[in-house]
Amino acid sequence: MREETVKIAWFGKHFGEEPPLVGKKDQGAGGIFFSGCHLHCVFCQNWQISQEGKGKEYSLEELVNIMLDLQKQGAVNIDLVTPVIWSRQIKKAVLEARERGLIIPIVWNTNAYESVGMLRDMEGIVDIYLPDFKYGIEEIGYRYSGVKNYPEIAEKAIREMLKQAGPLFTKKGIAHKGIIVRHMVLPNNIENSFRALDVLAKIDNSMHIGLMSQYFPLYHADQYTEINRPITFEEWKKVTDYMEDLGFENGWTQELDSSSVYIPDFNKENPFTP
Ligand code: SF4
Repeated sequence: MREETVKIAWFGKHFGEEPPLVGKKDQGAGGIFFSGCHLHCVFCQNWQISQEGKGKEYSLEELVNIMLDLQKQGAVNIDLVTPVIWSRQIKKAVLEARERGLIIPIVWNTNAYESVGMLRDMEGIVDIYLPDFKYGIEEIGYRYSGVKNYPEIAEKAIREMLKQAGPLFTKKGIAHKGIIVRHMVLPNNIENSFRALDVLAKIDNSMHIGLMSQYFPLYHADQYTEINRPITFEEWKKVTDYMEDLGFENGWTQELDSSSVYIPDFNKENPFTP
């Protein structure tokens, strides 16, 4: 039987996540960026790896060693980025890594378009869920990511994540367990953000939310005129005000001018260096 493998585009310590996921300067998230994605977002900032398959195959033994090595380097967690299509292999690797001394939390960094059945299978494996809630309007999800029923599927997934992990739990500023939900505001689409925030408030408005202003038109976004620009201050203000009106108090909102900081280039040795 062929040995099981996963495809990884990059791994290493990185600092682009919310503060409790990166800790201090000498710590960082232990990022493992998997190749491939079951969504096809026309504006994907990681398109080199999610859509074009850039990456290299690693055995499960190598994946275990990568996790243990990130822990040894001082990473405060193992941050599994776009892991869904590799969930079966990742589960085996995490169990093996824990046998061999992995104690830092496992972060499941996803787009929330995933089945409750798969998430239940990951119960006890994942400590911190870090899903995006990308679309509050189904048609927008279909237009930009090619998937049907996004709000319904993502809501069910986030409810299951919250049930498993509970609210965000931090100790000395470092996250150990819980959930942080991200939402990125798209230009000319504030209704989409309003509806997404409505759903999240209905689930639990005490959840930690990472509201992102970093949208920048990349990949195929230039073929969709309405999203072929960054968001404006007015759009950002309307969404942050709306979020406040819904009673969200926990979480983070990005600075509006942060786009250049967050666009990785996976052709570089470290995609996150300028
Ligand atoms: S879900 Fe994320 S990684 Fe996947 S295509 Fe969309 S933006 Fe890219």
